[in-house]
This record gives sequence, C-alpha cells and structure tokens, in this order.
Amino acid sequence: MSNSVSTSDPVAPSVSGQTPTGTAEHTLRITEVFYSLQGEARTVGLPTVFVRLTGCPLRCLYCDTEYAFSGGESFAVDDVVAQVAGYSPRYVTVTGGEPLAQKACLPLLARLCDAGYEVSLETSGAISVVGVDERVVTVLDLKTPASGEVARNDYDNIPLLKQHDQVKFVICDRADYEWARFKLDEYQLASRVSDILFSPSHGQLSGRDLAEWILADNLPVRLQLQLHKLLWNDAPGH
Ligand code: SF4
Repeated sequence: MSNSVSTSDPVAPSVSGQTPTGTAEHTLRITEVFYSLQGEARTVGLPTVFVRLTGCPLRCLYCDTEYAFSGGESFAVDDVVAQVAGYSPRYVTVTGGEPLAQKACLPLLARLCDAGYEVSLETSGAISVVGVDERVVTVLDLKTPASGEVARNDYDNIPLLKQHDQVKFVICDRADYEWARFKLDEYQLASRVSDILFSPSHGQLSGRDLAEWILADNLPVRLQLQLHKLLWNDAPGH
C-alpha cells in the first residue's frame, strides 16, 4: 500500500534510535515513519505523516510495498505517537503492509485522533475494521480478481463503513473494471461512503483507458493516479 511522495527532512525524527519495548497490545512493528505528500485518496497532495506498519497476510500480485512484509523495528505506541508529534502534522496516515494485522494499531489510531490530527487508515479490507476509532477515515481496498487476493475480501466490513470513509479499487484490466462496477451496485457504495476511488494498476492499465471507461459509464467514482509514481516513478523511499 504505497501511497506517498516522500521528502527528505533533515529535522524529521526516524524510527531509528527509539527504544524497542513493551507487549503485543502496546507495541508495533514499524517499517518507517516519514513526512511526505499524500499520494492518493481525498487528501491527495497534502503534507502528511505516514506510519507504515510491518507485515501483511496478503500477497497482491501488483504489491509495491513488499519491503514492508518483514523486518522493521518494535516500538511502544507512546514512542510512535511522539515521533509523529515531532513533525507537527495536520494529517496522519497509518498504512502498511496491513496495519490492522497488529493489535496495537487500534490504540495507535485512537491516540493519534486524541492528539488532534486528521487520521486516515489504509487497509486491505481483509481484516475486520471493528474497533477502529470513529474519528478515523478508513480507506478500504476491495481486492479485485486480478489482484490474486479477491477471496480475502471481508465483505462484513462494508456495513461498518462510515459516511466519511472511502473505498478503493486497484484495477488491472477491463474484467476488474466490470467487477468493480458490479460491486458499486451490489453494495450501493456511492451512497455509503464519501469517495470511491478507481486507481489503474501501475504498468498494467493506462489511466487514460480507465478514464474513458468511467466517463462512458458516468460512474460516481474518482479516478486516482498515484502522485508518488507520477513524480518519482516509484523510486525506493518515496
Ligand atoms: S494488501 Fe496487497 S498491496 Fe497492500 S501491502 Fe498487502 S500485499 Fe501489498
């Protein structure tokens, strides 16, 4: 779930140098914390702090964050909140990997909301969103057939979505587009959430083709082109 345009910020705190500590309920395995421009979703282009949690139970064929599958360092929730505060952000995005695969993601989200940030969560849709703080904007991926992980979608999450949440489809081909269009109708997504995002899978489907399909069908969705790939061609660290 790469979604950011990173900037080098010499004063930005790093996960390195913090003290690994605590238990599973209070600690998080973190791949990176960084300050960047939001690359996707409703807040695209806005300066944002990203907390990328380590690990994901899925293996989408187009995954661009395989480096977050393993490794990372363990930190207390308190330490992560302190690192985020060092950037004085308005927007904070918790991403992965699959952040909800770690128990301490839920208290982290609540603590970030308590601190007054506008907090979003990027999730694969494969793990229940029960317990996610109501103030969090959830950006829920629905995995299409060409992702290779369509069987992992937990459709019980859909009735739990709030009006301010967003649903995202990464679309690889025309069959994926038709599948996504069917899901729009099946779950009445346009009336359920604030934004529905259709994103062409990088290198598999052109944004222009997807744009033309959306226009032809007059779909109530937002075409999303990933800013970090347009600007940095998905270079490591961005
Ligand atoms: S959900 Fe899929 S795209 Fe996202 S990190 Fe996991 S494998 Fe990669």
